[in-house]
Amino acid sequence: MTTWDSRPAGPGGSTARAVPEQGAAEFEQLGFEGMPERLFACTPSKLASFDDCPRRYRFTYIDRPTPPKGPPWAFNSLGASVHTALRNWHGLPPAKRRPEALATLLKATWVSEGYRDGEQERAAFRTALAWLDTYVASLDPLVEPVGVERVVAAKTATLALSGRVDRIDRRGAELVIVDYKTGRSELTPDDARGSSALALYAYAAARVFRRPCHRVELHHLPTGTVAAHEHTEASLERAVSRAEATARDIQRAEAALRSGTDPDEAFPTAPGSLCSYCDFRKVCPGGQAAPVKESWTGIDTHVAEDSP
Ligand code: SF4
Repeated sequence: MTTWDSRPAGPGGSTARAVPEQGAAEFEQLGFEGMPERLFACTPSKLASFDDCPRRYRFTYIDRPTPPKGPPWAFNSLGASVHTALRNWHGLPPAKRRPEALATLLKATWVSEGYRDGEQERAAFRTALAWLDTYVASLDPLVEPVGVERVVAAKTATLALSGRVDRIDRRGAELVIVDYKTGRSELTPDDARGSSALALYAYAAARVFRRPCHRVELHHLPTGTVAAHEHTEASLERAVSRAEATARDIQRAEAALRSGTDPDEAFPTAPGSLCSYCDFRKVCPGGQAAPVKESWTGIDTHVAEDSP
C-alpha cells in the first residue's frame, strides 16, 4: 500500500498498511522539481481508490476537512506492525538479524488499535511473532535488499507515479518487487499478475535503479507462501496505460467538480462488499445497506488458525 494505502481491503484480503504517504520532499528528492503541471501526481493506492469507488476517492483526496472516519481496523494494525518489524529487522546490522531480535522489534512498534480487548491483542501479537519467526528463517541475513520500504517514482507522458515498495531484491541482473501480505487468504500467481500496484512498482523501480524489473512477488506471512508473476515489458506498459486511463477519469471528475457539477454526481458511490470495511461508511449514503463490521472483524479466526 502502498503508500498509506487507505483501501478497505478487509480482514481476508490484502492488508492495508497504516503508513503515511510520502510527501513532496521525497518527490523532489527523486528529481521531480520541474514537474510540469499537466502531470497527474499519484500513487497506485490513489488510483485504486478511484477505481474501487469514486466517492471514497473524493472523501479521501478532495473533501476538506476530511469526513470523519470510523475506528481503526485491527487487521490494519496487525499488518502495519508486521511490516514495520520487518523493515526494522533489515535495518539491523547483519550480525544482529537474528530471530531473537524479533520480539523486541515487534513490541517496539506494535500498533494496538482496533482489537476487541487485551486478550485478543496478545493472541495477535503471538501469531505475528510466529509468522515473523518463520519468515526471517527463510531470509539470508547477509543479503542486503536493494531497498526496504523504498519510494520509487517514474514519469510517463501524463503521470508522475510514486509509491513505496516493501522490499526490492536484486537477483542476478534483475530487480524483484516484494510485497508482504498478512491477510487471511492465501494468494495465487493470479493475485500477483493482477496487481496493478506491483506492476507500477516494477515499472518505476526499473527506471529509478536503471535495471530490469519484471518479477513481482506477494509474500504471504500467515502461510509462508510466495505468489509470483513475471511481467513482460508489454504487460508493464499495459499497467501504465490503465493507470493513465484512470488518471484521465479522475481529472475529468475533478474538472466537472470545478465547473459546478454536483459533487455527488461527479464522484458517484460504488456500493459493494468493500463498503463494510470502508472508513467512510457511516457518512456515505451508498454504504448504509452494507453489514456493519466490528473493528476486530476476522481477527479471532485469523489468529486462532495461526496461533502456535
Ligand atoms: S461506503 Fe461504499 S459507496 Fe460509500 S464511499 Fe465507501 S466504498 Fe464508496
